[in-house]
Amino acid sequence: MSVLSALRALLFPPRCLCCGKRIDRTHALCETCALQLERDMRTQCPDCFLEYASCHCAPACVRRAGVSALLKLAPYREDGAHSAARRIILRMKTRPNARAFSFLALELAAILRPFLAERNESDASVTQAVIAWLPRSRRNLRRYGFDQAKELARVLGRETGLPVVSLLKRLRDTRPQKELTARERRENVRGCFALAEDVRGMRVILVDDVITTGEGMAEAARMLRRGKAADVVLVSVAVTPRRSRK
Ligand SMILES: [Zn+2]
Ligand SMILES: [Zn+2]
Repeated sequence: MSVLSALRALLFPPRCLCCGKRIDRTHALCETCALQLERDMRTQCPDCFLEYASCHCAPACVRRAGVSALLKLAPYREDGAHSAARRIILRMKTRPNARAFSFLALELAAILRPFLAERNESDASVTQAVIAWLPRSRRNLRRYGFDQAKELARVLGRETGLPVVSLLKRLRDTRPQKELTARERRENVRGCFALAEDVRGMRVILVDDVITTGEGMAEAARMLRRGKAADVVLVSVAVTPRRSRK
């Protein structure tokens, strides 16, 4: 260790990505948070009864948009003070934390790799698999100065060896989805993205940090399908459980 990095470690000791407590530099989370995240990942999906980290279920609007699977680590519970996944995501939204992106990308890659290996064997029509991301709103991009979905996509690309491509452009911001009806939500996102590249024949792995209603992802998937993408797979750190989705 150089003098400089020793000094850095002394001044900025590594902290738990979830609660901020000081930890050993070889870990990402403190023991309590690591256990909580493990519990989050083992939560049973209400639709298929598999653990979240193994299930492929997606919100209805996302399935209708032509998405074949949604891979995730854990449920995203807004009321869950104990949800480790949610707390990591919230910390990651406001500050570009390279350790958090690396840690989450490593966990997501562990799910994505076997999934893709299975798909690639069965599907010869796919010309290329690429990673893309759902671009952050301009409002939040200005406010925080970075796009957390893009960062996550970039590190996931590094972990899986897949090319990361900027496929989607955001044309406009949308209103908050929470207070809207299902129909209004779809209207709200209509036309908010454009394709920046030719996606014909591609298997697109679309990354975001969290999926709540899924309408943004659904709109992006519709664009990709219209552009003749062969397959659209979503990858997200956390997904709002069906029953708490309005
Ligand atoms: Zn912690
Ligand atoms: Zn499921």
